[in-house]
Parts: sequence; structure tokens; C-alpha cells
Amino acid sequence: MKPFAAMLLAAVVLLFAQAMCDLNLPNLLSDIVNVGIQQNGIERAAPGQISAGGMALITKFMTGEQKRLTYESYTAAHDGGYILNADTEALDSAFGSAAYALMNTLREMEDSRHGMSGQQAELDMSRMHQLLPMLEMIPQSVVDGAIEQAARMDGLMLNQVGIAFANGFLTEAGVDVRSMQTAYIIRVGLNMLLLALLGGAATITVSLISSRVAAGVARDLRADIFEKVESFSNAEFDRFSTASLITRSTNDVTQIQMLLMFGIRMVCYAPIMAVGGIIMAVGKSAAMSWIIAVAVLAILCVILIVFVVALPKFKLIQKLTDKLNLVSRENLTGMMVIRALGTREHEKRRFDGVNREVTDVNRFVNRVMVTMMPFMMLLMNGVCVLIVWVGAGRIDAAAMQVGDLMAYIQYAMQVIMSFLMIAMMFIFLPRAAVSADRIAEVLETEAGISDPGAPRGFDPKQRGRVEFKNVSFRYGGAEDDALHDITFTAAPGGTTAIIGPTGAGKSTLVNLIMRFYDVTGGELLVGGADVREVRQKDLRERIGYVPQKGVLMTGTVASNLRYGNRAASDAEIAAAAGTAQAEEFISEMPEGFESLISQGGANVSGGQKQRLSIARALVRQPDVLIFDDSFSALDFKTDAALRRALKGHGSTVIIVAQRVNTIMNADQIIVLEHGRIVGMGTHKRLLKTCPQYYEIASTQLSGEELE
Ligand code: ADP
Repeated sequence: MKPFAAMLLAAVVLLFAQAMCDLNLPNLLSDIVNVGIQQNGIERAAPGQISAGGMALITKFMTGEQKRLTYESYTAAHDGGYILNADTEALDSAFGSAAYALMNTLREMEDSRHGMSGQQAELDMSRMHQLLPMLEMIPQSVVDGAIEQAARMDGLMLNQVGIAFANGFLTEAGVDVRSMQTAYIIRVGLNMLLLALLGGAATITVSLISSRVAAGVARDLRADIFEKVESFSNAEFDRFSTASLITRSTNDVTQIQMLLMFGIRMVCYAPIMAVGGIIMAVGKSAAMSWIIAVAVLAILCVILIVFVVALPKFKLIQKLTDKLNLVSRENLTGMMVIRALGTREHEKRRFDGVNREVTDVNRFVNRVMVTMMPFMMLLMNGVCVLIVWVGAGRIDAAAMQVGDLMAYIQYAMQVIMSFLMIAMMFIFLPRAAVSADRIAEVLETEAGISDPGAPRGFDPKQRGRVEFKNVSFRYGGAEDDALHDITFTAAPGGTTAIIGPTGAGKSTLVNLIMRFYDVTGGELLVGGADVREVRQKDLRERIGYVPQKGVLMTGTVASNLRYGNRAASDAEIAAAAGTAQAEEFISEMPEGFESLISQGGANVSGGQKQRLSIARALVRQPDVLIFDDSFSALDFKTDAALRRALKGHGSTVIIVAQRVNTIMNADQIIVLEHGRIVGMGTHKRLLKTCPQYYEIASTQLSGEELE
């Protein structure tokens, strides 16, 4: 994640901005409803303009202090009216309580048919003024009583009455309240639009950033895994199966990518929204906070149940996916064998079994999720109903405004959604954690074979010499050694053959020369240097290795032959192809050396593939040539011609073979059995001294050849 720190920081800042936008929208909505619609766009109880009569009327119901403040805050206009020059909250509350006191006094004096017909209706001020002489006659004690009563009232109620009066005063002063209202709604509406656009832009940018970070991290992870796997020795490949390594570098990386993509958004956004939503909701109506508390508790309960039920299954899914991959891979690579042996039914059942297991677990998890959704909807709608129910009562008691109720519902929903998002994170997280563990396992595995700190060079005098000194070897986890006390020398320029029954350890022995595995006992020298003391690259550069199964890369014949030595000239390639007896069939191919080789070398025969791999090894002009049972796919004639051609090549040749014919003329033949050397010498000598060799030879050669 380190390379993406700046991007992540930007994402967090943007998410914060987005949350602020989202949190302010309901607030503005409530302003439109409360002020814009219900208060005719009038925001304050203290009107911007007031007639002289209106001033006299309202100030009669103010305390001395309030009166002073009022006259200080208004300037007398030339038409006898007053214009507001300062606005303070104290002034608003002075007007609010005065209006309330005035209204109450009027109510007591008269029936409501005079002047007032409901709180919010427009007041007819000219009618009010007619009452002024009457009001003058009211004893001051009554006025004081009304003022005192107003002082005990809730501020919200006073403000609303004040605003209703302000409406009247403004209309009387000739202000166009209607267009003021429209202007207010448009202003707040534009603010909302701006916030929505800002929030939207932040959302899009964050999505972009999180996708980039997620894809970038995934790319880096895949590269890291690939590089690590490249450094693995065969021992590590034995430990992780190929199927699992593929799943780890694809499916598991995708899990991490998904988590990051959604996680970056949710991890920061959800908590901000949850906390912010609660703060805003409580700000709208502290008395209704308990509803939010109940809602959050209910969600936590639902989530907890889902957790306990579904979480273990989530972990299981990843394991089962691995298993499914394994079975699929075995089936696909072994299709020929399966068909040939007629085990399709068996394989089908095996696949069905795993497939059903995966399906069942997935279905279970999805069912739990699907069941959770209606509960969540029920919960959300229940909370809505509860808020409306409780809120309606409070609106009736003038303790809350309609717009606030609407905003409250939105905040409650935001809080619930945030908790849902957080819950989702906790569901995704364990699954991704399993994947992360599996990736970490690969990345943290130290390759068993690594280059020495201070690599040595080879001894130029011993070029091509391979020397086993009391070598023994045991595979990791095996109970017994695969090779015991192997001692022999393959002389430079000579041919050393290794023969023995299957499982005798022939392949193991040649793998040690390439240092695919490290010896567990004794010493193995190539070119006069212990293979553990030279760089792997330097060692392998000196060796041409032809594996049992020829593996070709996608490309042309020439690109395959040049695979080990990019600098090889056309003549060198042709010469190697000639030695490997591949020239003839290459020239018969439609485009000769430029003919295409399809994936895995599917368009050439087994023997042709083998000859191409031999030619590929020869192109490197190595000191040591190793053929691991590479001749068995060749016919006798080619085998013989190839051996003749190799004779003059100058490399040390080590041949693992099954056919006595192939090795009869070798300078030295080593007979292996159960990982031990049971005979060593030339063909003639071994026939006489080594019963195991004689036994192998007698099954393959005619009577006179055995003489
Ligand atoms: P050969 O090439 O003579 O047929 P191998 O060298 O392939 O025999 O195998 C020698 C022994 O080592 C066998 O008993 C085999 O079971 C064991 N063996 C081979 N490869 C591995 C491995 N990767 N892990 C554990 N044991 C192995």
C-alpha cells in the first residue's frame, strides 16, 4: 500500500468532504420546508422594516431592556417607519416573546375573529392598529403578566409566533413577501444542488482513486508472487501445488482487490456518516435520540446473528474454491488418461461432490444474506414510522417543525446505512483476510535454494567436470533417503550413462547437478566448484538440460531454439538442429525455422518436441549436457544418429536412459538401484560384474550382443 499513500490520503479527504455534503443536505431540506414553505421565506422574528404603528404596538409588550435593544437596532426612516440595522438573536427573541404576549393579550381581550385566525395565517395589521387605543387602556400589570408568561414559553414556539407577526409587519411596510419566499427557496435549493454536485464529484473521484489503488495493489501483488515463485526451488513447488499457486495469484489477489475497492470507500465513509448522522440527528431533536439508539441496537443484533451464522461459512468458501480448482485442473490436464481408462463417471462424481459442496455453502451464505435484507427493510421502515409517530406529537406540541422531522428521518436512515456498510466490511474482511494469509504464505516463503553471499568462480582447468562425493539426498518430508552415498566423476568430454529401474533415483540425481534441490549429504562439484558456492545462474549457464518431457514455448521454431541463447546465429541454430536430427522435419514444415509452435508445442509430435528440446540445449554450447531420459521418445535410428553426432561435440554428456542400446557405447555406465550405485564401468565390464545390469541387458539385447 505504501506507494499509494498519497492517493489514499486524497481519498480520505474527499470522503470526508462527501460525508459533509451528504450530512448537510437534509439540513437544507429542513430549511426549505421550515423557513421557505412554512414561514414564507422569513428567517427571523425581527422584521427588516416596520411601520411606526407596528413599532409602537410590538414594543408595548417588551421589557425595558428589550425596548432599548429594539430602538438601538432600528433606524428611523423618513416615512416614519423603521429599518433594521443590526441583527442579533436577542432581538429575535425579544420580538418573538413580544409577539406572543401581544397575541395572548388579544386572545383574552377579544374573540379570535379579530385579527388572528390561526398562528401561521397572515395577520391583518391595519385591524391590529385599530385595537391600539384599546390596548392603551389595558393596565400595565396585565401587560407585564403577558410578558412574564411569554418568558416561560419554549423558544421555538415564540420564534414561530414572532415570524408570523414579522410577516404582517413586512406586508404592512410594503415588502413583497411572496418574492422574498421564492428567492429564499431558490437560494437554499441552489445550495442543495451545489452540495449534491460536490458530493457527487467527490464520490466519482474517490471511486476512481479506490479502483486505481485496488488495481495497482493487485498488480504489485501478482508481480511479487510471480517473482517469488520464480525464485522457488523444486522443494517449494512440491510444497505448494501448482493449482494452489495459480488460485493464489488470481482468485486470492482478486479478493484483496475487491476489498480495497469497496473498503477504501466504506472504511472511512461509514464511520464519518454514522457519527455525523447521530450528531446531526441529536441536534435536530435531542428528545428523539432514543429512537436512533433503538435502531442501532436492533441493527447490531441482526448483524451479530448474521455473523455467528454465516462467518464460518465465508472462511470455508475459499478452501472449497481451492479444492474445486484442484479437481478441475486434474481433470483438464488428465483428460486423455480419464478417457482412456474410462473413468469419466468416477471423475464426474468426484467433481459433482466438490461442486455441490461449494454450491451448498454459497447457497447457505446467500440465503442468510437474503433473509437479512427484509429484516433490514422492516427495521428501516419501522424506524421511519416510529419517528413520524413520535415526531407528529412533538410537532403538535410546537416543540418541533415539519422540516426537522423530515431531516430527522433522513439522518436516521444515514446512520442505519452506515452501520450496514460497516457490517458488510466485517463480512468481506474475513474472506479477504483468508486470501491475504494465503498470499502472504507464498511471499514469506524463503526459497530453499539461494545464491551464496560471496559466489565463487569455476576452475577453468576442470571445465565440464561433474564430481559426486559421497552424495546423499532426501526429499523434504520423506522418511528415507532417495540417494545414498553416490560417488563418481563424469570426465570432461566423456559420456556417462545412468541406468536403473523406475524409482531408482536417476532423475533425482541429475536434478541435483542443476541444483534444483540441494544435496543433504556429501558434496557435488561442477567445473571444480561446489554447486552451492556458485551463482545459480552461472551454474545453469554451463549446463544444457533436456528434461524427460520436452516443453516448448509459444513462438516459432527459431525462437524456441534461441530460448537459451538469444545471441545464437542462424548457422549455430541450424548446426544444433542438425546434431539433434531435427533439421529434416523442420525443413519439411511450411515455413522452416519460422514455422509457428502453438501453445505447449501441441502441433509437433512427441519425438519432434524432444528433438527440438535437445537442439535448444545444444544451442547454448554448454560444458555439460544432461539428457534425462530424453531419448526414449526417439526411434532407434534417430537415437543412434543423435549419439554419433554428439560424440564430436566436446561437452560432458550425462544420459539417463532406459534402453541399453542408447548407452552401450558410453565411457562409463552407472547402475542405480534403490538410490545406490550397484555397478559402474563400461558395458562389457558391467555385463560380467554387475548382475543387475546383466538382468536389464538380457531383456533387451540378443544373445550375441550379451557376449
Ligand atoms: P527415477 O528417475 O529413477 O525413475 P526418481 O529420481 O524420479 O526415480 O525418484 C526416486 C525416488 O524419489 C522415488 O522413490 C520417488 O518416489 C521419490 N521422489 C521423486 N520425486 C519426489 C518428490 N518431489 N518428493 C518426494 N519424493 C520424490
